[in-house]
Amino acid sequence: MPMTSPRDIVIPSALRPRDGRFNCGPSLVRPEAVAALVAAAPTYLGTSHRQAPVKDMVGRLRAGLVELFSLPNGWEIVLGNGGTTVFWDVATFGLVDRRSQHLVFGEFSGKFATATAEAPHLADPEIIDAPPGSAPEPVASDVDVYALTHNETSTGVAVRLARPAGTSAAEGLVAVDATSAAGGLRWDPAQVDCYYFAPQKCLASDGGLWLAACSPAAVERIERIAASDRWRPASLDLGVALANSRQNQTYNTPALATVFLAVQQIDWMNANGGLEWAASRSDHSSALLYDWADAHELVTPFVSDPALRSSVVVTLDIDESISADDVLAACRANDILDIGGYRKLGRNQIRVATFPAIDAADVEALTESLDHVLGALR
Ligand SMILES: *Cc1c(COP(=O)(O)O)cnc(C)c1O
Repeated sequence: MPMTSPRDIVIPSALRPRDGRFNCGPSLVRPEAVAALVAAAPTYLGTSHRQAPVKDMVGRLRAGLVELFSLPNGWEIVLGNGGTTVFWDVATFGLVDRRSQHLVFGEFSGKFATATAEAPHLADPEIIDAPPGSAPEPVASDVDVYALTHNETSTGVAVRLARPAGTSAAEGLVAVDATSAAGGLRWDPAQVDCYYFAPQKCLASDGGLWLAACSPAAVERIERIAASDRWRPASLDLGVALANSRQNQTYNTPALATVFLAVQQIDWMNANGGLEWAASRSDHSSALLYDWADAHELVTPFVSDPALRSSVVVTLDIDESISADDVLAACRANDILDIGGYRKLGRNQIRVATFPAIDAADVEALTESLDHVLGALR
């Protein structure tokens, strides 16, 4: 059979997703949210972040998250600029007291571990790692922060959040990177002290902001370190961020559109049934992909343990006889965007976001489109 150039493959329009955005972040922003931003723009965009319209929006963001996560009394939503990557530095200065433990099972979980390892004011962290595609268990230890990732976006592994056996918040805070999980995966606040994230994934907004849901034990830790003589840059000072958040402000200027779009997404989720409803959407969409892969002779879920398979980021290995790069090129030529695997993982793989904003009908259309592309390339 003559070799077809991937870019020349035409997916019949009846098979194609209506919206072809499947990136894991920045991810699909709902058109309704963008329309609402345009409508609000004349009295919102370009106005002072120290005045009521913007402060009220930050207040709605904080209150909306408390509702979405059903947070108990005493929990607080803290926010600042710089996204999750900056929060690792913020936590290194203002949340870890002496020593942290890190579960490392992919690109993102490794980065926080590196940040604490390089900090001169902290003892070397305890690292427990596991190969990509799996996840380690936390182990009770003499650390004061247990750090892990709810959903490892680089590999498509999601873990159930639980304190290390026999520990309580008084012994060690559980700090969870929930960047690609927050708003799409269920969790129990009793098992966590600091659930931090950025809004460009399940919250279907844009990047540049970090948000952290903090338990009373985490707030107490933040305030204790903030009152100590440990040096920390003001822009990375978690105590400064906490004080500003309580005023519905950030230490310096936030991206107003990012705040607005996050509120749109959180209100949409809360109005429809909250986290359970949102997580169910992702359950449904991801099951469509895993079931499709299980039935396809050329496609295999990368995460072999079904209990660890993420419902918000689906990673699928493609048979070596077909280049995943060719699949990606054919998809992109047909407006199906960003389904490439995580580069550093180096596998012949596709990776698809099934965040709550992404329609199951589009995920189903994606499987039909992939059937067409794989058929044309084989
Ligand atoms: C995307 C992502 C990050 C990085 O977020 P930024 O806001 O770009 O810094 C960190 N952790 C996880 C799990 C992610 O998915």
